[in-house]
Amino acid sequence: MGMFFSSLYVHVPLCIKKCKYCSFYSLSYDEDIERLYIKALLKEIEIAKEIPHIVKTIYIGGGTPSCLSIQGLERILLSLRKNFKTAYDLEFSIEINPKTINMQRLCLMKDFGVNRLSIGVQSFNDKELLFLGRIHNSKDAIKTVELALNQGFRNISIDLIYGIPIQTLKSWQETLNKAVNINVVHISLYELSVEHNTQLENELKLKRFSLPSEDEVIAMYDFATDFLESRGYNKYEISNFAKDGFQCRHNISYWLRMPYLGLGPSAHSFIDNKRFHNPSDLIFYAKTLLNGKFGWIYDYSVDKVEELKEKIFLGLRMKNGITLEKKCLLDFFKIFEQEQLLILSGNTVRLTNKGMTVSNEIFAQVLLHIENCPVCKQE
Ligand code: SF4
Repeated sequence: MGMFFSSLYVHVPLCIKKCKYCSFYSLSYDEDIERLYIKALLKEIEIAKEIPHIVKTIYIGGGTPSCLSIQGLERILLSLRKNFKTAYDLEFSIEINPKTINMQRLCLMKDFGVNRLSIGVQSFNDKELLFLGRIHNSKDAIKTVELALNQGFRNISIDLIYGIPIQTLKSWQETLNKAVNINVVHISLYELSVEHNTQLENELKLKRFSLPSEDEVIAMYDFATDFLESRGYNKYEISNFAKDGFQCRHNISYWLRMPYLGLGPSAHSFIDNKRFHNPSDLIFYAKTLLNGKFGWIYDYSVDKVEELKEKIFLGLRMKNGITLEKKCLLDFFKIFEQEQLLILSGNTVRLTNKGMTVSNEIFAQVLLHIENCPVCKQE
């Protein structure tokens, strides 16, 4: 396709306080850091606007975009709207965190055409929020959703985490129950994972807690699927549930391998069949941009075999599945079909709910097959 993109991601590397489990690139909020970040980001936008594009979805994530100052947020929004050509039905999302949002910020977002909010709720249980090191409590989360609804935002998503050591199936059920009762149209579920160089990893090494068993985690996920689907939230992807018409188009563009550009430190891009990312270092990122260049770090070029692998581990995440040409691969999938982990119809492969629960094992086996199969590896 050449140099072209249709989705835009903006990473805001600032947070009020680091959560215990988080390994995303983010720094503690400070006015000078914000100033440097915005200066560099606006420069990056100036350079990036020259790449051919029609932007269908924008996603401002982080970090905590809602902890930016009003002036800072306005400069970013203004620059994005001024410099990029957008589709008439643009989906424009921003991640917001309870405790960092107020009416003024929400109004500003609305004025610039933001039409989707993704709220980092994580749990409606205060003990669990404390365990995770979040700065908000469940009341703050509910207030944030109410404030957003009152401001006329309809397309609201919340993130929830399961597999938290002190969580029980009962407390998870209570969290899900609250989630469906507050009128959000989209819910994303994430399993807590212990990442390197996080406070959670340290605490685990010090045996301050133990992790839940795999069976417990699976029970939480399976309960969520049944419960949310019974309440009208369709599981359109392994971790994402939406009411009809409210699937996140930005994330779907990743799973469909559409070209996207990531702006801001640590942001990833996929353009012209190449994957690359910005450095996870604000100072270095800013230095290169203020010298008039992108600081892109090249990851790899996607050849035919890589494309096939990506198509599987990204595309199969979605309920609609993927279509495959390779007969040998379709034959390989038959073993999973016998176990009712997926459904084959013609050239289309789709994971069942049972298959989605164990998707990582399925992906690992398929990728291993492709690596060792001369037919799959043929151009
Ligand atoms: S607010 Fe989000 S990005 Fe910031 S530290 Fe917490 S989890 Fe990480």
